[in-house]
Order: sequence, then C-alpha cells, then structure tokens
Amino acid sequence: MKTNKIKLIMVASLLLLAWKTDRSLEKECSRIEKKRGEFACLITRPDTGQISFVYNRRMLFEERFCPGSLIKPFTLLSYVASHPFDKDKTFNCKGFFHTKDRLCWLGEGHGRVDLVHAIAFSCNHYFMELIKDKLKKRSFLRTLAEFGIKEDMTTISDTDFFKTAVGLGPFFRVKPVHLLLAFNTLFNRGALYNIKGELISRIEYNSDVIECIREGMRGSYLYGTGKKIFDETKTKDMMCKTGTGMAFEKGKVDYKNTVGWVIVFFPSYEPTFSMLVLVRNGTGSEHASIIASEILDIVTEK
Ligand SMILES: [Zn+2]
Repeated sequence: MKTNKIKLIMVASLLLLAWKTDRSLEKECSRIEKKRGEFACLITRPDTGQISFVYNRRMLFEERFCPGSLIKPFTLLSYVASHPFDKDKTFNCKGFFHTKDRLCWLGEGHGRVDLVHAIAFSCNHYFMELIKDKLKKRSFLRTLAEFGIKEDMTTISDTDFFKTAVGLGPFFRVKPVHLLLAFNTLFNRGALYNIKGELISRIEYNSDVIECIREGMRGSYLYGTGKKIFDETKTKDMMCKTGTGMAFEKGKVDYKNTVGWVIVFFPSYEPTFSMLVLVRNGTGSEHASIIASEILDIVTEK
C-alpha cells in the first residue's frame, strides 16, 4: 500500500515536470475537444502551488461559471464555523419526483444519507436541510473570500441564497482557477496560493470536517457521482468532486445546456496532483468526467 503510494507520488511528480516542456498533452486535449466539445483543463500541484498545465486559458482565468455542487465543501466549512459539526446526522432525500421543491437532482432520491454519502452523491436535499435558515449570507461570503473565491453574487432573496449555497441557480459564478486553488487548500494544510504560485495565506479549519470531505470525495470517485472516472481509469487512490452548473449564453441563462465540472486529486493523502476539467455547453458533470478520464489515461500511459 505504502509502496504504491510512493510510486504514485513519484510518477505524478515526474509527469508534472515533463509537462512543463511537453506540448503533447495540449495536442491531445485539442484532439479530445474535437470529439467532446469545448472544455478547459487545469492541472496543479497542491503541495507547492505550481500551475503545471493550462488548456483554454480564457475559460479558466477570465470567465466565470456557476460552480454547481463544487461549492458544497465551502458551504459546509462556512456552516460549521458557527454550528456544531455532526458527521453522523442523516436526512431523508425523497428526490426530484416526490418533492414540491424539486431540490435534488436524482429522480427517486438518495434515501436516508449521512454527510459522507451526501458529498459522494452530491445530495442537494441533505445540504438544504443542513443549512436552511441557519447559514448566514455574510458568513458564507466571508468563507468564500477566505478561500480566495472572488464572489460575484447578485442581490438575492433568502430562498435564492440557500439554493445558491447548495449549488443551484444562476446567481453565483466563479473563475475556475480560483475554485481549484481553493480546493487545493483542503488537502495541503490550508496553504492558499495565488495564480503565480505564491503563498498568500494559510487557512485554519476544522480537520474533522476536512477528513469528512476527503471521505466524501473518495466515495464520489469509487461509487458516487464521479464513479465514471474510476470505471474508466481503474486507478485506485484518487478522489474527486463533480458539479453541474447553469450555463449562460450572451449574458442570459441558457436552459438548454449546463456546464459540467470535475476536480480530481491523487493520491488522496498529501496529494501532489490536482486537475480541474470544465466543459461548456455540455451534458453535466458526467461529460466532464469522461474528458477527465481521457486526459488521465494519457497522463498515466506516458
Ligand atoms: Zn438527494
């Protein structure tokens, strides 16, 4: 187990070093894009803050997108800053078909889930039950700012705010690069780097919550919303989080499309590799997971 981990770290480090001068991954991304549609890919080293690979700079560094469920870990961290943390608390998700508010995306619902499974399956109902009428907008925005996520939230009602905090609706958009750098802090002892790779702050958080997020992201990869990547790559020690956000076209919500996200880390402890894939006008997070699998295949074959 330990040998495998060391091997994985070494492979990741060597590959990242190689990509600095190797343009072949860019060509491969271009090939994938012809088949799968426009996407962006960002690879970093969470442990050093180095940005190792950028594909589609404009989407990653200039545009903003609805993060969907990728906001959930930060919603949780904001919530536990002023409320008790109870990992074992459960809520019963009845799903899209059997509820009036139609919060959760899964038709039949996730049933009774705890926090780890709510992260793994990205259960909107769980998070809404957890935060509704408790999480304050001000503290949510403060948490996002602390993690370097530049907020762009329009003035919204309380109802819309809670939906936004679980990852729904068109009211909140982020730059993808800021989102990945924020995720990196969860697994590098709170080191927040800027886009130049400079350490700008060290964030303190509840490590029990981080372990729960890690477990949820392991679950997402092995049996949850990111399972597609595990099925395709068969790499054991990864973790991921998926997201599906509302799409925009010429400044207006585009109800026909969604933006699909996935963020992947390996190894799951002390990760030296993180990758964000974002697909525009796609069919949600599975679309991004398929692209991420294809890129990971190229990376691991090299
Ligand atoms: Zn659910």
